[in-house]
Amino acid sequence: MAKFTKILIANRGEIALRIIRACRELGIKSVLVYSTADKDSLPVRLADETVCIGSHLPKDSYLNQRAIIAAAELMDVDAIHPGYGFLSENADFAEFVENQGFTFIGPTATNIRMMGDKVAAKDTMIASGVPCVPGSDGALPDDDNEIIAIAEKVGLPVIIKAAGGGGGRGMRVVETMGELLSAVTMTKKEAKSAFGNPVVYMERYLKNPRHIEIQVIADTHGNTIHLGERDCSMQRRHQKIIEEAPAPFIDETARQKIGDACVKACRDMGYRGVGTFEFLYENGEFFFIEMNTRIQVEHPVTELVTGVNLISEQIRVAEGAPLQFTQDNITLTGHAFECRINAEHPFTLMPSAGVISYCHLPAGYGMRVDSHIYTGYKIPAYYDSLIGKICVHAPTRELAMQKMKSALSELDIQGIQTNKALHQAMFNDKSFSKGGVSIHYLTHWLENYTNNQPNHK
Ligand code: ADP
Repeated sequence: MAKFTKILIANRGEIALRIIRACRELGIKSVLVYSTADKDSLPVRLADETVCIGSHLPKDSYLNQRAIIAAAELMDVDAIHPGYGFLSENADFAEFVENQGFTFIGPTATNIRMMGDKVAAKDTMIASGVPCVPGSDGALPDDDNEIIAIAEKVGLPVIIKAAGGGGGRGMRVVETMGELLSAVTMTKKEAKSAFGNPVVYMERYLKNPRHIEIQVIADTHGNTIHLGERDCSMQRRHQKIIEEAPAPFIDETARQKIGDACVKACRDMGYRGVGTFEFLYENGEFFFIEMNTRIQVEHPVTELVTGVNLISEQIRVAEGAPLQFTQDNITLTGHAFECRINAEHPFTLMPSAGVISYCHLPAGYGMRVDSHIYTGYKIPAYYDSLIGKICVHAPTRELAMQKMKSALSELDIQGIQTNKALHQAMFNDKSFSKGGVSIHYLTHWLENYTNNQPNHK
């Protein structure tokens, strides 16, 4: 085991700040690479050392592998933390990093590659006994009659998905047999141009599922544990906006059963580091859809209910240290919510860039705010709209909701639009308050809201 003295962070925004803070606590120096558009950002101010690696265009900076490695060499770091997004799930980058003699703070390139191919990922899960959405066993064949036979067996509606897809793209729902073959052809074509891989597969389309995911972490000594689940069903345009832990109405037996299946899958594939198994959950059953081989935006809700600092643990296991916890040490205490604060109109979702003329972030007992904004900060127009995460932790779900309402009422961001009003509407919404709404709930709510506006045409 070799302790790190310096880590390079290949990311920006709130996650860069989160990693800088974890490094500082661990006594590790942080080096942040940044684009010209981020020169005035808070993480650039707070990192121990910084290197500007390129222009505002992601391909020139945060996706510029050579520039990142050159900075790592120049600054003499031990390891590279990719955060989420950008290069975090790029197997070639993980390989490049390790071949240049640095530690990639994440799983092996083999793990990333396998989980990045959704057909291979599903095959791996089936072999380990993780429940998957029924569908084509593997890639769809070319023969039309075989495709029709598979759809008949799976049962309509079905969803055609690209093996190389991601970010909610490369999917098509098929309601009738008449649309089937053209949908397959179109998805293949799109998949080839968008992901360079024309392979598609078929799944039964679940009508009203919830999105529930399991957090895992594995060290390099054969220890793997799960840290319970998160409910991330509150999504718009396939993007999560409110997350909570634990998921409402999931009992301890169901939690341990699905958690154990994920742990077994990690062991079978020799997984290391943090990871998330994403499931659709319908009528009491879990169906695996994909695995994220990185830290996720919503990791704080798990940290709040388990007391495990996931980023610190992630860094420690990358150093080769054994996990500090066994499965028996992990208990879920209370309830946590996260609201993603985005720079966008709360109801039309139009992005809003510009200068934050005034900013007050909530604080207090049981609250946590991860954010890189400050009064006077200019939000660059080139990146995603996430400007912060407000998290709360309380003994019960009801009390956590009260606390989030209080936090939101205190939040004051001037000069740009934020989605605060949407969060406030949700935390006063009857169905969301009861818990357990499906992944379509927010989309339908927004449609209803828009249709009921007085000037709606
Ligand atoms: P991506 O990697 O692009 O996010 P996923 O496989 O995670 O792709 O699916 C993204 C979203 O698409 C899911 O959260 C869900 O809303 C929807 N989806 C995917 N598969 C199914 C399915 N079999 N039935 C219903 N909805 C699905």
